[in-house]
Amino acid sequence: MAPTTASKESDESSRNGEKEWRLVAPARGGAMAAAGDRMSIRAVRYKISASVEESGPRPVLPLAHGDPSVFPAFRTAADAEDAVAAALRSGEFNCYPAGVGLPAARCALANHLSQDLPYKLSSDDIYVTAGGTQAIEVVISVLAQPGTNILLPRPGYPNYEARAAFNNLEVRHFDLVPDKGWEIDLESLESIADNNTTAMVVINPNNPCGSVYTYEHLSKVAEVARKLGILVIADEVYGNLVFGGSSFVPMGTFGHILPILSIGSLSKRWIVPGWRLGWIAVCDPSKFLQQTKIATLITNFLNVSTDPATFIQGALPHILENTKEEFFKRVIDLLTETSEICYREIKDIKCITCPHKPQGSMFVMVKLNLHLLEGIHDDVDFCCQLAKEESVILCPGSVLGMENWVRITFAIDSSSLVDGLKRIKSFCQRHSKKKALI
Ligand SMILES: *Cc1c(COP(=O)(O)O)cnc(C)c1O
Repeated sequence: MAPTTASKESDESSRNGEKEWRLVAPARGGAMAAAGDRMSIRAVRYKISASVEESGPRPVLPLAHGDPSVFPAFRTAADAEDAVAAALRSGEFNCYPAGVGLPAARCALANHLSQDLPYKLSSDDIYVTAGGTQAIEVVISVLAQPGTNILLPRPGYPNYEARAAFNNLEVRHFDLVPDKGWEIDLESLESIADNNTTAMVVINPNNPCGSVYTYEHLSKVAEVARKLGILVIADEVYGNLVFGGSSFVPMGTFGHILPILSIGSLSKRWIVPGWRLGWIAVCDPSKFLQQTKIATLITNFLNVSTDPATFIQGALPHILENTKEEFFKRVIDLLTETSEICYREIKDIKCITCPHKPQGSMFVMVKLNLHLLEGIHDDVDFCCQLAKEESVILCPGSVLGMENWVRITFAIDSSSLVDGLKRIKSFCQRHSKKKALI
């Protein structure tokens, strides 16, 4: 294989008469480069952010990603902060933790998650990870065997595609249907699976769509997955963040008919993504997975990876047990209000259409009606021009698998949200075709 050279650096170093370093492409370089090229959500975000006129008179409104921790209204629970401070001050958590997590943290998670399940999880079913992101890394790496494939939702959460590419794991996409509340298209799901399919990913409550799946829909998904003989990876990092009358059904509810790996995190429900604490819960009361090596593979992986900070793990039992209902209610009330504002204001903007009112998570997907707009080529172009002219940052759908759609977060304080949606509206009015061909 021809070595690739870091040309700029080597020009510099040969000028300086130093040794020329070559970056030799490793065997997996192709897949890694592909992951970088296709999935670089950050690269797109930088491109859009770079369009913003920094010296502009108005504040930049970040409606692209879901991290409301910077807004005072979304500050985490005082009990959670106290628990972390106490764990730190105790001096008991300055050590390395066990690779799979502190026993007390695993036990507290097992109890916490069992409250919503028809059976009890044990500590051994829980693996503590550095956020939901590391949980994804672990699950995908462990499942990636030569020749196998995995089924991912479209639109989806691009970290799965990127991680699969790093592991040379083939990805196949099934659709989420906008006109059916973004439910999974079960026919397309069945049609893409084969004997080499190992798992599918279900994100509920859903990022990017803001949908929440009913018991009936999840039970159908479980039946299809069981028929196909595949695992379900349930990404439930937005678990319990539901509103407007919907309720959260953990996928583990169906653990008696098929094995489920549930991914969770403190990041979203407690609004502390910087604490880097997540988990994998193996929901398998019927012990389907006993014959597989999955538990060993996860343990082995975690034994050679970095762990979430010990004092955060030390605080976890108190966080899970002592966070008051009041805090959760405050966050839900805020998200209810902002999701309502978002849905209502979007209806008033002609160039975008929202097919489904958000019921959970922090996001909504909207369709761009490009035929009504002048001089805007696609979703990335829309987001760049909007950033430049209005200092509003949105996430283009093409990085989530859906071209010419856009994802908007409503997890932001309500006055900024109203301001942001007004700016989007005036942008659309300014760019609308004079004689629209409707
Ligand atoms: C945020 C997010 C994650 C990652 O969780 P962290 O705890 O922030 O690492 C995983 N999946 C989805 C769908 C997310 O939105």
